[in-house]
Amino acid sequence: MTTDVLSINIVKAKKSRIHELDFDNLSFGKVFADHMYCVDYKDGAWKDPSITPYENISISPALSAIHYGQSIFEGMKAYKNDKGEVLLFRPQENFKRMNISAHRMAMPEITEEIFMEGLLNLVKLDQDWIPSKEGAALYVRPFMFAIDDYIGVKASDKYKFMIFTTPVSAYYGKPVKVMVDPKHIRAVQGGVGYIKVSGNYGRSLYPSKVAQEKGYDQILWTDSQEHKYVEESGTMNLMFVIDNVLITPPLGDTILAGITRDSVLTLARDWGMKVEERKISVDEVIAAIKSGKIQEAFGTGTAATIAHISHIGKDDICYELPQLTKDHFSKKVSKELDDIRKGRVADRHNWVVKVS
Ligand SMILES: *Cc1c(COP(=O)(O)O)cnc(C)c1O
Repeated sequence: MTTDVLSINIVKAKKSRIHELDFDNLSFGKVFADHMYCVDYKDGAWKDPSITPYENISISPALSAIHYGQSIFEGMKAYKNDKGEVLLFRPQENFKRMNISAHRMAMPEITEEIFMEGLLNLVKLDQDWIPSKEGAALYVRPFMFAIDDYIGVKASDKYKFMIFTTPVSAYYGKPVKVMVDPKHIRAVQGGVGYIKVSGNYGRSLYPSKVAQEKGYDQILWTDSQEHKYVEESGTMNLMFVIDNVLITPPLGDTILAGITRDSVLTLARDWGMKVEERKISVDEVIAAIKSGKIQEAFGTGTAATIAHISHIGKDDICYELPQLTKDHFSKKVSKELDDIRKGRVADRHNWVVKVS
């Protein structure tokens, strides 16, 4: 067996576009850094990894990803610590999850080398695009899609794996209001709710729009069978602190295994907090709001990190949660995660990868 070192063909942009970026007014995901990474899958193998200036790509109108949805993605963030070193948070977990998504969608798995080498080289090359402001970061978007120009319904023979990056500010500037959807569901048993396949997000937009028209930020999704148990919200896993116990729905095929979720649970257990991964019904949450036993509710995810939930709406009643104080678990864990990611405290679980 030969172990070739991956050689990436790097073509640098003649001129950086970074002066177009207003670091004080970053929007989410609208301006892209100078370069992109691209690898093609054909004849049963990944070939020709390249980093080239970010630009439009040319596709066939018959591109199978457009018609039948073989399209998966990941999301993570790159940070700079106080010494100016570039850090990534648990990128191997994104690599593993990408392959779980690929497997379910009958897409080819990618090697760790192709994923990680492309990622590290790209982030290193565009590191000037990493904002240093608190809460801001360089969002990294790896994705893979089918590129056969063939409209028969079958798994494509050819694919592209790409990564681009975009500087982002904090996702939610304020606490979020979520609404229990009375009718729509996000994921079903035996379906694809546990992977990051693009269709999961397209299908959520209409219900989210209805919720936004009612003054909410996001849907609180419940299970597909009884419409009773809490699952997720937007692109966040959900957590509650009731009577000092951290409660979150258990993983399964309807819930995305968030890396932030896992990190928060790990830290809570490190700190000796009681953690329960179990079904929790919307009724239980509302009863805990009414009795005053709920201390906090929040969402976890790369985009938002920790998003405090201030209101939960159900059947046209809007329930208000307690105001967040600095003593709340979500504040503490959010700070700890920031400190780990920025290299300010010990990284006991080896979560941080330095881009050297
Ligand atoms: C990405 C995502 C999450 C959060 O996962 P992280 O790895 O923490 O970013 C949660 N739910 C859904 C539906 C997602 O797509």
